[in-house]
Amino acid sequence: MSTGKSVAVGVELTGRGTTVALVDRHGKVRYRLQAMTLRGRPPIATIEPSLRAIDTILSHAHAEGFKVRGLGVCVPGTIDFERRRPLLLPTLPSLNDFPLCDFLEARYHLPVQLRVDVDAALLGEHRFGAGKGVNRLLFLTLNAVVGASLVVDGQLERSAQQYVGHISHMLVSTNGPRCSCGKRGCINTLISVDAMQKMVQRALRRGEQTSLTQRLLNREYFSPQLLAEEAGRGDSVSLQVYGEVGRWLGVATTRYIDLFEPHRLILGGDALFAGDLLLDHVRHTLMTRPSSSVCTMVDVVPAHLGRNASIVGSVVPLF
Ligand SMILES: [Zn+2]
Repeated sequence: MSTGKSVAVGVELTGRGTTVALVDRHGKVRYRLQAMTLRGRPPIATIEPSLRAIDTILSHAHAEGFKVRGLGVCVPGTIDFERRRPLLLPTLPSLNDFPLCDFLEARYHLPVQLRVDVDAALLGEHRFGAGKGVNRLLFLTLNAVVGASLVVDGQLERSAQQYVGHISHMLVSTNGPRCSCGKRGCINTLISVDAMQKMVQRALRRGEQTSLTQRLLNREYFSPQLLAEEAGRGDSVSLQVYGEVGRWLGVATTRYIDLFEPHRLILGGDALFAGDLLLDHVRHTLMTRPSSSVCTMVDVVPAHLGRNASIVGSVVPLF
């Protein structure tokens, strides 16, 4: 069997649903399926639709003559590395402490590996995307919550996990909004997608005029994309939100760089996919920050793999 026909199955489990994909050894997604995750059920019932999607994708791989090397699963939360199982998944609590790798290996007779989603995304970017060949690579994601991960010499930096796992509660403003952890001014309350939405809600409560009102009245859901579109049209509230988030992101980025001393920093996640506004803010902050010469030397780049990053990285290095 030629290695050109080697693939692995990536499985991205989230509270909203599961993506199952056939990924080739160049990091390309060859085939993809979506499945529901049945929250609130026992563990196997929760992932039952995902298992059927894996069955289907394995049949497809077989029919196409692919050699499947293994399964890579990524989850939103923390994992027990030694026991190869989820530890704490806030959106899929029934899978906490469920022996996921053992279960899947017994079912599919293939090697299975488990990763945290942000770690998987970083490995994907390191192997196939914006971090290729970079020795010390930091990845920061802005989704509903803020996540970060570090790779050194091609390996996830486990000693940094302690920090990195709690990065969303890094304190950047003592008088900022109150966080779910009880403290004020955690980074999560200032730069995540949730934080952006709350800023818009506060502006609406203050009665500020914004073209967002009409779009939200049209039953469009709030998203960074919607905010970026209105900012692009010059809407003052949207520009104000991007300005504020950009400033805090700049502050946070300098803190991360001081802490982890990366050679390159990749910014990814839903908030970043929406446009260059935030990236420009961060670059400006780093360039104009006089106290840190380290910061001006760090490359700050957007993620290349977009929403595929986690699923592609979840199968590295199964080939
Ligand atoms: Zn917090």
